[in-house]
Amino acid sequence: MKQTVQMKNIQEKLQPGVITRDGFLGSDQRNLIDILEDDEARVRRIKLTHRQIADRMIVLRDAGMTGLGDFISVPPHYEIRVDSVRGKLPCPFGDPGILPKTNITVRNMKKNVEIIFTDLHIHLIGSHGFYEGKGSPFRLEPAALVDILEIKPEEE
Ligand SMILES: [Zn+2]
Repeated sequence: MKQTVQMKNIQEKLQPGVITRDGFLGSDQRNLIDILEDDEARVRRIKLTHRQIADRMIVLRDAGMTGLGDFISVPPHYEIRVDSVRGKLPCPFGDPGILPKTNITVRNMKKNVEIIFTDLHIHLIGSHGFYEGKGSPFRLEPAALVDILEIKPEEE
């Protein structure tokens, strides 16, 4: 799909060294619009919305916050650690305001898997449907989020 000038400007902010050292795109050479559409299709196939995924991340982050930087048990079978890191980041999509740098580690003890995400990820997914480019060290696969965080489509 054709990329708008606005998308092109956002894509420039996603390059290494602009907002973060590593950038958000990894080795992904596609236009941002195509990255977004591809993940949109993935999420739609599993009958979820970006908002539902982000909301689950928020619930688990908030539950983990009470551990004050240490792992804490969260029912039914999670261990969650929330680390606040100094500094704040702006949204590459140009929203006003800045986001705290918070690392959230969620271990699913039943499945024996863990996933690490940040407050910026939650915002990028919930507000922009952006999971980062393929090959980005910080890309979150929608399917992995759904599996590890056990996100279920709402009953119809
Ligand atoms: Zn934003």
